[in-house]
Amino acid sequence: MPRRPTATLTAAAVTLACLGASLYASPQVIAQNMGRQVHAFSPLDPTTYPMAAEAAKPQLETTADASREQSTLSGDSNDSDTNTAITRHEDQPELHTADTDVQEQPKLPDEAADSVDPSSSQLLSRVEVALPDPDTDASETAQSAEEDLNVPDDVDSPDALTVIVNKARPLPEDYIPADLVELPSQLSTGTQTLRQEAADATETLIAAAQDDGVALTVMSSYRSYQYQHELYNNYLTRYGTTVTDEMSARPGYSEHQTGLAIDVAPASGEHSLQQSFGDTVGGQWLAEHAHEYGFVVRYPLDQQNVTGFDYEPWHLRYFGEDYAQHIVDNTGVAELDFGLDPAPDYTE
Ligand SMILES: [Zn+2]
Repeated sequence: MPRRPTATLTAAAVTLACLGASLYASPQVIAQNMGRQVHAFSPLDPTTYPMAAEAAKPQLETTADASREQSTLSGDSNDSDTNTAITRHEDQPELHTADTDVQEQPKLPDEAADSVDPSSSQLLSRVEVALPDPDTDASETAQSAEEDLNVPDDVDSPDALTVIVNKARPLPEDYIPADLVELPSQLSTGTQTLRQEAADATETLIAAAQDDGVALTVMSSYRSYQYQHELYNNYLTRYGTTVTDEMSARPGYSEHQTGLAIDVAPASGEHSLQQSFGDTVGGQWLAEHAHEYGFVVRYPLDQQNVTGFDYEPWHLRYFGEDYAQHIVDNTGVAELDFGLDPAPDYTE
């Protein structure tokens, strides 16, 4: 009687040991014994190593999420994020070093789509059976980015309402718009001229603001190449090149030469041409409504790496209602919306 449990236990131990040994030695043998077929196990073969495929998936999704978040961020910058913008700037000095903004550069959608780190690339090649082909994925991303663009027929001709002037795209020295008209004096401070269509839109804009109880005036409008030359050189002698380039466009590089740009200020003159204008009722009204009249705040907050200019809540550029609406709904920045290269610095 006392021997039986021992014998049973010994037999069980032997059975378990054999089973363990066979498991350890060859899963194929076990599988064959069980009547199933399995692939040869290899830690480098993801088809037999589902953990690798699972581990790779989150990395890819993270990359895609980051790209989406960046798009969202840049889309917000010129739209409804005015309060954030104001908070970040109101206590800062009027001038900023370019470096601060450059460090905060958001990646462009194209760069983000291509920015897969080397380790996950290697992983991709190993798990291509389980995951979408990375090349296909990239072209799909590029395609959807293209669908978000609203590229005008003409961004080069100085006379085009959609011309883009920035630090890489100067106007000819002798360009003077042919259809300049004076703004009605009650809309402006001093005599101001604009191209006809932009002048009409400005009149509607200022009147609409007035209807909402916001008194605005146009401080600056068309500027000739010669005027910009004098303005720039005036700053240059006082502040030197680095500071001047942050304050004023070089002659030929000012949007004001297009006759499609205006600087708007409160009728009271307070916060005029200062970033704190963005915090006023007038600045907020422009940020919310300018696009309804064909204008955009051309130099939004934190887009200096694209536009080349620091935040200017007072500087509006006329593009027409369709383009203005699209820019505001999409990237908030004309260069990005039109599929043009960023122009953070002068190229010559
Ligand atoms: Zn301006």
